[in-house]
Amino acid sequence: MADFDEKDLNENEEDKKEIRDVGQDKEGTSDKPENGSRKDNDYEDVCFICRRPESKAGKMFKLPNNITVCNDCMHKTMDTVSQFDYQGMLNNPAFMDDLNKNMKTQGFPSIRFVNITDLQGEGGIPNKQRVKKKKKAEGEKTEPVLDIKNIPPPHKIKAQLDDYVIGQEHAKKVISVAVYNHYKRVATGTMDEIEIEKSNMLMIGPTGCGKTYLVKTLARLLDVPLAIADATSLTEAGYIGDDIESVLSKLLVAAENDTEKAERGIVFIDEIDKIAKKKNTNSRDVSGESVQQGLLRLLEGADVEVPVGANSKNAMVPLTTLNTRNILFICGGAFPDLDEIIKQRLKKQTSIGFNAELKDKFDKEKNIISKVTVEDLKKFGMIPEFLGRLPVIYTLSALDKPMLVKILKEPKNAILKQYQKLLELDEVKLEFDDGALEAIAEKAMKKDTGARALRAIIEEFMLDIMYEIPKDDNIGRVTITREYIEGTGGPVIDIRSISGENPDNLKLIEEK
Ligand code: ADP
Repeated sequence: MADFDEKDLNENEEDKKEIRDVGQDKEGTSDKPENGSRKDNDYEDVCFICRRPESKAGKMFKLPNNITVCNDCMHKTMDTVSQFDYQGMLNNPAFMDDLNKNMKTQGFPSIRFVNITDLQGEGGIPNKQRVKKKKKAEGEKTEPVLDIKNIPPPHKIKAQLDDYVIGQEHAKKVISVAVYNHYKRVATGTMDEIEIEKSNMLMIGPTGCGKTYLVKTLARLLDVPLAIADATSLTEAGYIGDDIESVLSKLLVAAENDTEKAERGIVFIDEIDKIAKKKNTNSRDVSGESVQQGLLRLLEGADVEVPVGANSKNAMVPLTTLNTRNILFICGGAFPDLDEIIKQRLKKQTSIGFNAELKDKFDKEKNIISKVTVEDLKKFGMIPEFLGRLPVIYTLSALDKPMLVKILKEPKNAILKQYQKLLELDEVKLEFDDGALEAIAEKAMKKDTGARALRAIIEEFMLDIMYEIPKDDNIGRVTITREYIEGTGGPVIDIRSISGENPDNLKLIEEK
């Protein structure tokens, strides 16, 4: 930069010319491929930096010369630029000497322009720089099972949920009534005359008991967009972590950036117990109490500025306004140690007077969590204003052995049905005897992660079956037994033409 001579000036002249050319390109001279106009609708843009298509990376920034950059990359670039130490540069005497010398001789420092097309290797960006949009499969079902504009009565909603979610009768009943009231309110727009309160919900239940699954099933049946957010990642604006509004950004993405659709959606905030007020802390509680405070406005219903396609607001992110009045918020959490708080309260209540009961009475009680009150939750660390905006509070019970067995075989998309379908394609019948199902459930109970453990256990022992069976075309039926699950025996194999067991065929599994 120090040698600013005539050559540099000439180069600048050429560069400027190039920039003018680029400007003309933008008007549309070299934009089109030679063989006619591009069918824009069939193609989606790809980020110039990370190469992800629009469908994955979200809305693109359009730069001159057909360059498109996704939101994330644009942010990263802007962050890098903003971290550049301009002040340090100005404080550097050697740099300033140079600059002053140039200013004296030429009146302006040497600035070089880069023609961005050079970076692309080839001129213009034809369709090969973009990816073809996926076409929706023809005949794809778009009709929702439950129509929110004409919402069916609660018992019908529950009947639909019954097909997928096992047990949790109380939770299904409560959620059906709350959803019925919510969408009836939305559809009829009666909230102006008599303000009907929003039916936001708080679900309490141990891990793997079906909290997320219940909400997912509901959203699918209603065909409304669903955003699942994790409360642990949220922090007060300005701190490391996701802004609270990011839960609405997710909803917007789920609604394919259709604000109207998003405004009727469901937001599920998981791990809500993790934003309980921190005890004995002197520093600002940016990921606990402050997040609860921040969520108040969303839960209640307000116009909220939402960053589009990003987790935090900043200068480069486009914002849109979402009204959260008709968005159904469901919060869920396991609330560990809440049972202790409930027990303490119950013991206090019953230890005085004539009705005094034995102190350890509640220790043995199994479903103590179902006795939860707002007071207990306050004691746990949830602030009163937050709880006030979640009028529907209910609990889900831990899954016991019979329920786990049912989960294995009964739901419409049960895991066993999925394996049976797979083997059916090989014309093999797969069966599980009752002992086997119980053995799987017992194994899952030991893991203490609810129904979540089932899949892992089944996958483990089905691996051999799925590997061995296709080897032999004669196999017509496989029956999984308790012994096979416990590792003390093999499955029963039936040959296609022979009915009944054939001990010779057990060899197949014993060989492995
Ligand atoms: P959590 O309560 O921790 O949110 P999930 O809802 O994610 O648990 O449950 C994990 C998986 O277990 C689900 O994907 C679902 O397949 C299965 N599952 C859990 N509970 C049930 C249930 N009551 N009925 C049917 N499947 C269930």
